[in-house]
Amino acid sequence: MCVFCKIINGEIPCSKVYENELVVAFLDISQVTKGHTLIVPKRHVENVFGLTKEESAAIMEASVYVANKLKEKLNVENVNLLNNSGVLAGQCVMHFHMHVIPRYGNDDIEIKQVEHEPNFEELGKLCKLLNE
Ligand code: AMP
Repeated sequence: MCVFCKIINGEIPCSKVYENELVVAFLDISQVTKGHTLIVPKRHVENVFGLTKEESAAIMEASVYVANKLKEKLNVENVNLLNNSGVLAGQCVMHFHMHVIPRYGNDDIEIKQVEHEPNFEELGKLCKLLNE
């Protein structure tokens, strides 16, 4: 059984901060920054491709709840919502989880987006494909 299923079943402890019928939220054991929280569906789902519409909504709702709680209790004004789906995306625990990562001025996290010159022909083709 995966580590998050064991947490959900109560076999191993966690620092729970929120729960409803579909999801549970608990503090990430490694705390990338203070307040780093994971939102996890109770049903074992490997990654984003397996989520139901109801689970997707519950995960987003819980993420917003947790972000607001961090704001209220830790004065968090900046946050990253992050999901790694698949090994190439950096997923280590194969049970879907949304990271809620508070950002502080002195943290050493760098999320880098490489920008390219826009290619409108390619964008048009891609848009057409994704609308099929
Ligand atoms: P990812 O690389 O997106 O799969 O992230 C997995 C996350 O799960 C890491 O940030 C770990 O610190 C976290 N993690 C692993 N085991 C536990 C645990 N028992 N309780 C809380 N967080 C955990």
